[in-house]
Amino acid sequence: MDVTAQSVWTNCLSFIKDNIQPQAYKTWFEPIVAVKLTDNALSIQVPSKFFYEWLEEHYVKILKVALTKQLGETAKLVYVIKMENTYGNKQPFTEKIPSSNRGALKSQDVDVPLNNKNPELKNPFVIPGIRNVKIESQLNPNYSFENFLEGDSNRLARNAGLAVANKPGGTSFNPLLIFGGVGLGKTHLAHAIGVDIKDKYPEKTVLYISAEKFTQQYIDSVKKNNRNDFIHFYQIIDVLIIDDVQFLSGKSGTQDVFFHIFNHLHQNGKQVILTSDKAPVDMQDIEQRLLSRFKWGLSAELQSPDFETRVSILKNKLYRDGVEMPDEIIEYVAKHIKTNVRELEGAIISLIAQSSFNKKEITVNLAKEIVEKFVKNTKREVSIDYIQKVVSDYFQMDVSTLQSKTRKRHIVQARQLAMFFAKKYTKASLASIGSQIGKRDHATVLHACKTVDNLSSTDKQFRKYVEDLSKKLSL
Ligand code: ADP
Ligand code: MG
Repeated sequence: MDVTAQSVWTNCLSFIKDNIQPQAYKTWFEPIVAVKLTDNALSIQVPSKFFYEWLEEHYVKILKVALTKQLGETAKLVYVIKMENTYGNKQPFTEKIPSSNRGALKSQDVDVPLNNKNPELKNPFVIPGIRNVKIESQLNPNYSFENFLEGDSNRLARNAGLAVANKPGGTSFNPLLIFGGVGLGKTHLAHAIGVDIKDKYPEKTVLYISAEKFTQQYIDSVKKNNRNDFIHFYQIIDVLIIDDVQFLSGKSGTQDVFFHIFNHLHQNGKQVILTSDKAPVDMQDIEQRLLSRFKWGLSAELQSPDFETRVSILKNKLYRDGVEMPDEIIEYVAKHIKTNVRELEGAIISLIAQSSFNKKEITVNLAKEIVEKFVKNTKREVSIDYIQKVVSDYFQMDVSTLQSKTRKRHIVQARQLAMFFAKKYTKASLASIGSQIGKRDHATVLHACKTVDNLSSTDKQFRKYVEDLSKKLSL
């Protein structure tokens, strides 16, 4: 009998289906497509990076057993991550990760921003200036405006994004800079704008790229001696979306080249969309001339969504996945995970998976267990050093100033805030906090915590400090 990718996978599926819950099977296995079988390695195509990570985390064992049954001990599994194109190109934009190479995904990246169909275009820097070269947008169609729920926390950014998508390059929002903390939807919104533009203006060349990837390409171009081709390539783009520009900090060569590209695009009425984890004023080691350009257009912040928005995001997600869940549970999760939409989604997905795996009913108690894990995970990352760094950055002073013996009011306040947050976010004792924050004793720390409590209920400005810092620290 002929062994094909399809037949091998069908057999694996029937084994898997017998061994896991129907809901889990439906969610995680039905969307997979077997694409290739070579050298005893089966390639399966999955819809997203997240999907791949989830499979690796939860189903790698059963996948291994199933595949070994079919192909023997030397069997290998290769994931192909598919992100569909938003417009008429048949070649999918793929990344391949050998399953033996766990965790390698993050360091790996897509090949080139050009259509891989033409081998001579593999290099993104060839044929500068040719307008009808088809450039892959690298957009993820799952990140649409429709799926990006509106709330007070994102209204400005979302609407500015819509305005830009209606008239790319034709509004005063150029560049549009979307900034905010981790997991608040910057990447999603940036894609949504690109996807919408491609929809409305199919002839426009849209390119999404992370600042990290951009930097890498630039470095390669310097090595290969084709820096000018690199610049030309970017200058023919109509809508350039660069994600996480804070990554450019300290990289003066890349900043310089970006400056030239930016000016060219801007002068020619092309749209630039940027995202960053900080507002321009807080960006460090970015050249002034670049910062001032970032401020030319609109900087719109994504804030942590309020409770109602969190509930709608969860409901929308569940609806799209075809999963029903009692309101009580949704509200419980929304109430306890506040600062990061990615975690919010993660918690609800684990909840579904847990319940289908362990045949548990979805109860508030189960929700509690899972939420606790998420909340704990976030807290674990905060160290006293980190708190001191965040607080001193916020007040634009050095850590050594914060720790110094001075009695200047604003420095004392910063120090007290650092102590307060160290008490709140770490398990360290008062004595240990004191010794790490400028060699003070435990009574000083206790006093600091009380002072912060008092001031935040009586002084509006001070309360704002506490709120801002809480946000920064609870990511
Ligand atoms: P960031 O780039 O800011 O770290 P992402 O864009 O990766 O965040 O968003 C994290 C997750 O949260 C994504 O799955 C995204 O779809 C989801 N998300 C964020 N904001 C919203 C929103 N307003 N509506 C729906 N989903 C959202
Ligand atoms: Mg992002």
